[in-house]
Amino acid sequence: MLNNSYVVGFPRIGEQRELKKILESFWAKKCSFKEVQKIASELKKRHWLYQKDAGIHFISSNDFSLYDNMLDTAFMLGAVPKRFQNLQKEELYFAMARGHEEATAMEMTKWFNTNYHYIVPELSADDIYKLNASKILEEYKEAKEQGITTKINLIGPITFLGLSKRIDKGDPYELIGKILPLYKQLLQQIAQLDKEVIVQIDEPIFVKDNETKVLSLIKPTYERLCEVSENIKIIVSTYFEHSNEATKIFVDTPIWALGLDFLHGKENLHMLSTIEESGKKLIAGVIDGRNIWKNNINKTLQLLNQITKVIPKEQIIISSSCSLLHTPFTLKYEEKMNPEIKNWLSYAVEKLDEIKLVADIFSKDLNNLNQKEQKLLQVNQEASESKKTSSLIHDASVQKRIKDFKLFNRTDSYEKRIKLQKEILKYEDLATTTIGSFPQTNEIRKARRDFKNKEISKEQYEQKMKNYIDECVAFQEECGIEVLVHGEPERNDMVEYFAEQLKGYGFSQNGWVQSYGSRCVKPPFIFGDISRPQPMTIDWISYAQSKTKKIMKGMLTGPVTILNWSFVRDDKPRSEVSKQIAIALSDEVDDLQKAGIKIIQVDEAAFKEGYPLRDNKINEYETWAVRDFKISVAPALIHTQIHTHMCYSEFNDIIKTIEAMDADVISIETARSGNELLKIFKQIGYKQEIGPGVYDIHSPRIPSVMEIKKQIKLLLKVLPKEKLWINPDCGLKTRKWEEVKPSLINMVKAVKSIREELN
Ligand code: GLN
Ligand code: ZN
Repeated sequence: MLNNSYVVGFPRIGEQRELKKILESFWAKKCSFKEVQKIASELKKRHWLYQKDAGIHFISSNDFSLYDNMLDTAFMLGAVPKRFQNLQKEELYFAMARGHEEATAMEMTKWFNTNYHYIVPELSADDIYKLNASKILEEYKEAKEQGITTKINLIGPITFLGLSKRIDKGDPYELIGKILPLYKQLLQQIAQLDKEVIVQIDEPIFVKDNETKVLSLIKPTYERLCEVSENIKIIVSTYFEHSNEATKIFVDTPIWALGLDFLHGKENLHMLSTIEESGKKLIAGVIDGRNIWKNNINKTLQLLNQITKVIPKEQIIISSSCSLLHTPFTLKYEEKMNPEIKNWLSYAVEKLDEIKLVADIFSKDLNNLNQKEQKLLQVNQEASESKKTSSLIHDASVQKRIKDFKLFNRTDSYEKRIKLQKEILKYEDLATTTIGSFPQTNEIRKARRDFKNKEISKEQYEQKMKNYIDECVAFQEECGIEVLVHGEPERNDMVEYFAEQLKGYGFSQNGWVQSYGSRCVKPPFIFGDISRPQPMTIDWISYAQSKTKKIMKGMLTGPVTILNWSFVRDDKPRSEVSKQIAIALSDEVDDLQKAGIKIIQVDEAAFKEGYPLRDNKINEYETWAVRDFKISVAPALIHTQIHTHMCYSEFNDIIKTIEAMDADVISIETARSGNELLKIFKQIGYKQEIGPGVYDIHSPRIPSVMEIKKQIKLLLKVLPKEKLWINPDCGLKTRKWEEVKPSLINMVKAVKSIREELN
C-alpha cells in the first residue's frame, strides 16, 4: 500500500476546548504558564495519536499554536512591533495578540474567506529580524518521541508578506530580501533534525488574483529555499480556491509536491497535465475541510478518476482540502442529535477515517477491496442515499414556493418611498437611533439559560424579558432618542436566534470551531429546506411598541448573514439556500408591518464576508446576495421604512452593490476609521440615507459631547443633513449599562446642540 493519506492541518483547541480553558485561566492569572504548556503538550500528543490511529501517513507538526500561526511566524522572525519591545517570551507573545497596558494589540483580520481570524504582522523597512526556530524544532521532536515523524507546517514567506502590513507605508513584498535569509536559516536547522524532513509551506495567497510582481517572487524564492538542503522535501500548499497562475510557476521550481484544493477550486483540474509533466507529487485536496458533512465517497472517487486520467496514481496523495481547523473536532460528544442527521455528519476526527478510506480504496482496484473496506463504502453510500430522500431535508411546499416566487422588488421607487416616509414618520434631520441590542446583563443571560434548562416557566421567562424591554424603552425615551429599539434581550446570537426558529436548521452540542485566539463559535447548520413555521419576532417587537408612542424599530438578521454564519448543506447551491431563507424572512417583514411596525431593520453584518476570493466570481455572488436581501424586504409597503446595518466601513469596491440593495437607510461602522472612507458615498452620489457610527462601541470609553459633535460636523462635510442619521457604530450588547447610558445621553446632547447651531 502507498503512503498516500495526508492531512493539511488539525484543529488545536481540543475536543473539549481544553486549550481555550487553560489559556483563559492563565490570562486571568489563575494558573501558571507551565500549566498551559502542560495542557498544550497533552493536546498535541492526543491530536497526533488521533491521526496516527486513523492510519494517516502525513501528519503535521507546527500546526499547533497557543494563539495563531501568523503570530507564531512573526514571532519566529522576530517581527515584533516597537511598542512591545520591552517584553519577553510568553508575555510578549500574548501582548502582541491581546494588548498590554499602554500597548494596543495587533490588528486581527479574517483568514481568507473563513471565519478564522489571524493577527496581522506589522513590518517596517528598518526592522531587524532574527530567527527563533525553537517552537518548530521542539514540536517536531515532541512528535518524534511519540513515534511519529511529522511534516513541518510553515506559513510561506510570500503569503506571510502578502498578509502583513507595512507601518511605514511601503509594500510588504519589498521585504522579501529581509525575511528570505531567515527562512533559509530555518530550513538549515530543520535539515539537522532527521535524515529526511518534509516541510509543508502554505502559500494560500496564490488563490487570490495576484499582480505579476507577486507571482514573479515564486521562482527566485523557492529556488533558494529548495537549495538549502537535500534532506528537505518541500510541499507547497494552497487551499480555498484554485491557484493556477502560481501552479504554472511552481512546477518549474525544485519543490517536491504541490497541494491543491479540488473542491473549492475546481479550476485546479485545468493544471493536471502541467503537473503530470513536472513529475511532482500532487497532494489532492478532495475531502472537504470546510464543512461538517460526510464526504460522499463515490463522488470523491469519481473526482479522483478524473485526475488519474491525466496523472498516474503513484504521483497522487489523498488529502483534506485545507486544514481541518475549520471544522469542529469530533462527533463523539454529540449525544442529543437526531441520529438520522448525525449520520450525515463528519467532523475533523471522522474526516480522518474518510481520508484514509479514500486513500486505501484509491490505491487498489475497486474490485479488489477487502471486506472492511467494502462495508465502510457501503455504509457511506447508504448515508448519502438517505439524504436524497429524507423528509427531514426535502420539503415539497418550500420547493414549490421557491419555484413560483415572484416578489423580488419593492413596488415603489426609493424617491417616492422616502418622501412619504418622511411625512409619515416625521423624524428630524440627524435622527437618532441605535443598532439594536442593549447590554446583555448577567440577569438576562441567566434567564435565557434557566428557561432553556426548564428551570423557570415560559411565563417567568417572558416576564423577565419584558421587564428588560421596559427598562430599555424607558431609558431611550428619557434620553431623547427618536427611533427606539427593544434591546434584543431574547437573543443569544443574531443568527442562532433565527436559526432556532427556522425549519431546516440543526444544532450541535460540541461543534465548536476556532474563530480567533481562545474564541470559538458554534455555527448552526442548515441541513434541509428552510421555512418559517411561525412568526419569530412579532410578539417581542409588538410588546415593545405598545410601551411607547415613539417609533419602535423591528430587528431582523438578513438572509446573507444568516447563511454566511452557518454551515450550509452541500447538496444545493448556496444561492438557493439563501433564497429560501430570504423568503422565510419576507414573511416576517410582512407580519411586522401588519402588526403596525413602521421601521424594520434587516442586519447584514456578514454580507461582505461572503465575497469570493477571485474577482471573476464576485458578480455572481453579488447578484444573488442582493437579490435575496431584496426578496426579504420586498413585502414592505411604501410607507414602511427599511434599514440595514453593516459592520464595516470599507465600501469603496462594493458601494454600487450596497446601493442596489435598495434599503431606505443604512447604518455602518465608520467610527474607528474616520470619515475618509465616507467620501465614496458622496463621490458616487449615493441616494439613500446613511447612519455612519459616531462613536466606537468596541471600547468601553465614553465619548464626550464635544467629541461626538466634532464627528457629526465632519460627517456633515460629506453628507447632507437630510440624509444623515446619528447612531453608535454597532450593537451595544457587549457593553455595560454604565458605559451605554452616558454615551447615548452625550450622543443625543450632541445632536441637539448641532441642530441649534444649524438653525
Ligand atoms: N442588531 C444587532 C445588534 O445590535 C446587529 C449586530 C451586528 O450587526 N453585529 O446586536
Ligand atoms: Zn455591527
